[in-house]
Amino acid sequence: MGKLKIVIDRIKCEGIGPCAEETDLIELDKRHKAVFLEPGKDKEQLFKEVENLKKQEVVIDLPIDKEDEVFRAAEACPVDAIYIYDAETGEQLYP
Ligand code: SF4
Repeated sequence: MGKLKIVIDRIKCEGIGPCAEETDLIELDKRHKAVFLEPGKDKEQLFKEVENLKKQEVVIDLPIDKEDEVFRAAEACPVDAIYIYDAETGEQLYP
């Protein structure tokens, strides 16, 4: 599909966690907020970087199976705290 922009709204996120069951690219931090784990970045460092952000935004080119996982994770979120956009056109793909 090309690059996706994934936005996790850390205010909206209620830390319930079904997103993290769908993909190893998302884990909950110590405040039980979802964090998108950018491949190649140190997890603890990333947790610190996003700690005080209202939104975590990541632009990333993923293999198709990982893209599917991220969509499933977004769909699993009961409060729609995970947004997915086409990074090139800006089109909102989910929700
Ligand atoms: S499913 Fe939604 S509310 Fe629950 S941790 Fe994931 S992003 Fe947050």
